[in-house]
Amino acid sequence: MTRCVGDDWSHDFPVEDSVQAYCEEHGVRLVWKDPPAEASVPDAAAEPAT
Ligand SMILES: [Zn+2]
Repeated sequence: MTRCVGDDWSHDFPVEDSVQAYCEEHGVRLVWKDPPAEASVPDAAAEPAT
């Protein structure tokens, strides 16, 4: 579990999943990874020169 930490207190986040942890009591939200704004596909169509 991830801890919601303040000046003189801390506790486990009541809501925590693979995307985020959220504490409604303190209004704290931690997001593990940002959703991709634009999917960047690497150029995989390069043909080998023979
Ligand atoms: Zn909290």
